[in-house]
Amino acid sequence: MDKAQLEIRDQINNLRTVLQEHNHNYYVLDNPTISDYEFDMLLKQLQELEEKHPEFHDPNSPTLRVGGEVTKNFDTVSHEFRMYSLDNSYSKEDLLDWEKRIRKIVGEAPVSYTCELKYDGASISISYENGTLLRAVTRGDGFQGDDVTTNIKTIRSVPLKLKGDYPEKFDIRGEIILPFDGFNKMNEARVAAGEDPYMNPRNTASGSLKLQDSAEVAKRPLDCLLYNITGNNTGISSQIESLEKARAWGFKVPDAAKLAQNMDEVFEFINYWDEHRSGLPYETDGVVIKVNSMDQQDELGHTAKAPRWAMAYKFKSEQATTILNSITYQVGRTGAITPVANLEPVLLAGTTVKRASLHNADQIEKLDVRVGDTVYVEKGGEIIPKIMGVDLSKRSKDVGPTIYITHCPECGTELERKEGEAQHYCPNQYGCPPQITGRIQHFISRKAMDIDGLGAETVELLFNEGLIKDYADLYKLKKEEVIPLERMAEKSAENLVMGIEKSKEIPFERVLYAIGIRFVGETVAKKLARHFKSIDALKEASFEQLVQVDEIGDKIAQSVNEFFADETNVDIIDRLNAYGVQLKISEAQLEGQTDKLSGKIFVVSGVFAKVSRNELKKLIEDNGGKVSSSISSKTTFVVAGENMGPSKRQKAEGLGIAIISEDDFLAMIQ
Ligand code: AMP
Ligand code: ZN
Repeated sequence: MDKAQLEIRDQINNLRTVLQEHNHNYYVLDNPTISDYEFDMLLKQLQELEEKHPEFHDPNSPTLRVGGEVTKNFDTVSHEFRMYSLDNSYSKEDLLDWEKRIRKIVGEAPVSYTCELKYDGASISISYENGTLLRAVTRGDGFQGDDVTTNIKTIRSVPLKLKGDYPEKFDIRGEIILPFDGFNKMNEARVAAGEDPYMNPRNTASGSLKLQDSAEVAKRPLDCLLYNITGNNTGISSQIESLEKARAWGFKVPDAAKLAQNMDEVFEFINYWDEHRSGLPYETDGVVIKVNSMDQQDELGHTAKAPRWAMAYKFKSEQATTILNSITYQVGRTGAITPVANLEPVLLAGTTVKRASLHNADQIEKLDVRVGDTVYVEKGGEIIPKIMGVDLSKRSKDVGPTIYITHCPECGTELERKEGEAQHYCPNQYGCPPQITGRIQHFISRKAMDIDGLGAETVELLFNEGLIKDYADLYKLKKEEVIPLERMAEKSAENLVMGIEKSKEIPFERVLYAIGIRFVGETVAKKLARHFKSIDALKEASFEQLVQVDEIGDKIAQSVNEFFADETNVDIIDRLNAYGVQLKISEAQLEGQTDKLSGKIFVVSGVFAKVSRNELKKLIEDNGGKVSSSISSKTTFVVAGENMGPSKRQKAEGLGIAIISEDDFLAMIQ
């Protein structure tokens, strides 16, 4: 290496170290010390250097957090140190018994305990060598697990490089979790795309570890909480010390952990968190108590399954008993059936509970729950309470098992259940009222046709009055028909009809989203519209042609094909066409469509003279560019109008991003 090269290497290494530090401040300590813009600037600098100098590639560079590698089969790897399970306890007596067993082995020597929260996710073991992340492996059967390193590296709070005084080689164990906040956001996005929401954060977190596409994992707001260091010669003499050390090396260790000098202090910890756990940002199902001294831990050893020096204490979920009055069945927009338990109202965790979810037929069968039963209800991490079981001693002899409905409660159609699916579906898509109104409500929603003056309730009213049977019918509504409806007046009826009329201007890509093809969300609709340019072309597209489009997979392609194979849909589309709804990219748009801006990312800021902000954004997309809402190192141009915010300008200038005017931009696409 010559001198110049050495300098570049040092510069790259310095940047990596600095960025690691800032990552740590942001994702682990929750306490950033520089602005996002400064961070982006440094990251961009590093990206550029790495691009120019591939010889200094490092698989643990902070630029590689976005994932991208795809794993078809995860390698099986043996754990150097077995990953044990934990024994469970459910009462203070259980814990006092445990203490007695400890005493038998360690004698009268004082025993202190580290108390930690028990995080509910998927366990992981991460190996580090010389301060660098080497490998991450799932628990598996405890002896061997799956190598999920590429996926774990995308989790921002997992350090790729350590700092401080770490042992040369060790494994660290922890839990991959999905905080409530991120979980709820993921579900909102799924529901908007017509997909079923995930059941709970824990299963979603553990499912995420085994996704083949690491870029997909990178998008999930996963977190990793650590609780154990394993290895030879780690120089650690107590559990509490290991937590402190792990924290100092850069790991995320929640600071709830506490040292208790005796069982009374352990109980205090349990009582405190039993009361306060609902305020935590993630799920916990208990507390883990560990003998603090490593020497004592060694003395105690393991049983066949679990360490003798640790014990999980499971919180009791707040439970109540009440009577199951009836089971009703709800039908969703996609036809999915959800059984609901209607309960004799009962007070539980501070709220009155009247209903509980029964999920599906399997769940009812498993619980063997029957109308009239006295049931145990519980409030877990989920918002809707669950039925946990039946008090059989109170069951009257003359009720038989619950027979799951065979026909739709709303339309009478025989239900279907696809192989491998838990849910029953009503297949009567076009005749089942909640499915019909659900689709119309989606059609008029803000991100779809955005029809002013029409809301969810009015849709039901119009449907019940027989004025509309599908969303195409909206376009033949007359003011005179609407006025007599409940809560309608001349003015509101006028607004409604006008709003519908105006929606004929909504561009094709949003119409495509509005018609509600399963799995075709906003982004997918845009992609399909840009690629096929008209609904006719999309209708004719084969499965093979569909999957060739960027980001369109088998599931979406199949759903599109199925949609157009159905005569009813074709008829609705024909009618929309006849009413003048935009079913192809407009001439003007077609003319204006180029690939001139392909690969370029724009941020639009300020007020413009010749075009509106939205027109400007459309021009960017029509010409193959991307619009982003915030300036980062990835931005290619900032199009600045009048009154561009000074902080935005500063940020763009700091990052060295070209700021162009409206005229510059228009010239660019001429
Ligand atoms: P279980 O799955 O009920 O057998 O409980 C054992 C699991 O609890 C372990 O494999 C860990 O994944 C998990 N766990 C969560 N928090 C902790 C903690 N603070 N200490 C030890 N194990 C924990
Ligand atoms: Zn139905």
